Amino acid sequence: MNRYDVLIVGAGHGGAQAAIALRQNRFEGSIVLIGDEPELPYERPPLSKEYLAGDKVFERLLIRPAAFWEERSVTMLTGRTVVAVDPAARSVTTADGARIGYAALIWAAGGKARRIACDGHDLTGVHTVRTRADVDAMIAELPEVRDVAVIGGGYIGLEAAAVLAKLDRKVTVLEAQDRVLARVAGEPLSRFFEAEHRAHGVTIRTGVQVSGIEGDDRVSGVRLADGEVVPAQMAIVGIGIEPAVAPLLAAGASGGNGVLVDGQCRTSLPDIYAIGDCALHANAHAGDRMIRLESVQNANDQATVAAKTICGLEAGYDAVPWFWSNQYDLKLQTVGISAGYDTAVVRGDPATRSFSVIYLAAGRVIALDCVNAVKDYVQGRKLVAEGRAIDPAALADASVPLKDLSA
Ligand code: FAD
Repeated sequence: MNRYDVLIVGAGHGGAQAAIALRQNRFEGSIVLIGDEPELPYERPPLSKEYLAGDKVFERLLIRPAAFWEERSVTMLTGRTVVAVDPAARSVTTADGARIGYAALIWAAGGKARRIACDGHDLTGVHTVRTRADVDAMIAELPEVRDVAVIGGGYIGLEAAAVLAKLDRKVTVLEAQDRVLARVAGEPLSRFFEAEHRAHGVTIRTGVQVSGIEGDDRVSGVRLADGEVVPAQMAIVGIGIEPAVAPLLAAGASGGNGVLVDGQCRTSLPDIYAIGDCALHANAHAGDRMIRLESVQNANDQATVAAKTICGLEAGYDAVPWFWSNQYDLKLQTVGISAGYDTAVVRGDPATRSFSVIYLAAGRVIALDCVNAVKDYVQGRKLVAEGRAIDPAALADASVPLKDLSA
């Protein structure tokens, strides 16, 4: 049985950054990165943006070139799935039956795209957007596709809608809630993005339930609860992820919707850490609620914390969360976590396509969504970090820079 000092499960953003951070912190032991995708670690955000649009080739998505991993003696086992963890024997088992030992294990397996539970969900032409293979399959079918139904009006669905509208497809977004982005943003932002998509020819339908996907050998339409069928030769399902934690939970790790970690990204199992999309943690910027964050920044920051902890260095996870999304020529930048806000202040005029929504809870700024408003984003970070009470009227006055309102 091969044995490594650090074994990392999942060769995505978090896994790659964990290996990078270990070497940056002069960790000299052996490192292996095991990932079930065939590729070396690559950036996922462009999948629903430039890569789907054909504006970026895959090689430009690689987090580091192949030579980087060799030079730093990081062993890459791609195309291998870890199916079991044995914390007592300190080993994992892969789907091909190999056992690989570790001194420390970092679980960075992210999540799998949630499938829609309705008939026709497995027809050809029904896609999720999580991996390069997912998007390659979409690109291969596009020449035969005129109508696209996007199920789910979250960031990934809307980004894909924007790209496909630009590629002259007739796109319909089907959202169960009464507005898009309802899970992650306030109403002013939702309404702005709905209007933008409509202006680009996308049909946005909110408050609709999908009851099935129709087609013989491939999808021909998406059926709604009232029986209406929305024509589609491609259906894109963007309804979130399921954290990929089953082997770890089966091994006895605490968790449920993710695996539970402390401020150093330690799970309840000895010398096993978890980071990124699958790590359930108490977040100081969400009132210490237990949450998972699905962002590149979180994966990278938690990777760095786990790596430092393994190196015996002081580290704790308390970064202010941030996120971005690109749709059309709009750059959305989010800082903080808006969930639980009681007041949303619009700063600037959405009609100018440059504005921010500032979220407050009990008078304190907890998050900002900034659309084509980089200054607000940069200066607003400080307001979120400080968590001070600020007069909403002052925040709404776009003639006063946000930096003038911070301590
Ligand atoms: P991942 O990057 O998903 O890596 C996990 C890896 O582990 C995967 O390769 C997975 O296949 C593999 N794996 C799973 N189980 C096993 C197993 N048992 N054995 C071996 N390997 C396994 N975030 C932003 O901040 N901004 C954006 O604009 C943005 N856009 C996005 C667009 C798309 C289309 C997607 C899918 C995500 C986007 N995200 C964005 C989210 C961001 O990509 C994720 O938060 C980030 O990738 C999380 O990193 P991770 O390491 O936790 O998981």
